[in-house]
Amino acid sequence: MRLCRLQKKSEEHARKIFTFKQNSFQVKKFASVPFNQRVVFTPHCMRNVVVCTAVEKDSYYICKECGSCKINDISKLVNSLDYKALYVVKGGRAIGKIIKEQKPKAIVGIACFFEGDQAFKMLKEENVAVQFVPLTKDGCAATDTNLTEVAKVLKYG
Ligand code: SF4
Repeated sequence: MRLCRLQKKSEEHARKIFTFKQNSFQVKKFASVPFNQRVVFTPHCMRNVVVCTAVEKDSYYICKECGSCKINDISKLVNSLDYKALYVVKGGRAIGKIIKEQKPKAIVGIACFFEGDQAFKMLKEENVAVQFVPLTKDGCAATDTNLTEVAKVLKYG
């Protein structure tokens, strides 16, 4: 049992190191991309599902800024900076599909370390600069992130 916990901890640590290294490698390229060619992905588990008025599409939601979760603040900032779009995605697979369709030059992904790690690996052959912001509370519902950190990354340029 203890061994299992230790292994989980070490995997999580490896993901942290990998994702933060990728952020450092890609930040210069990311900052050179105009805001209107960047998109943002947030996980649907950050929504307040009880009151959420987001419009559901096949693999993502469009936030309607009801003010009931932090995606509201992210959406407002994304719009004020003139980002191309914000997608509240249902899962990692949605990202590949949206990138193929929308062809953004840069993306900001807010996710748990597991999803961040997977996304960097999935996108390594794509011509897209990625910045990852970790969730501060992960899980399947009521997840959270640091808005100050999100705003800092969104404004790189
Ligand atoms: S702010 Fe957006 S994502 Fe959050 S609960 Fe409201 S409509 Fe849903």
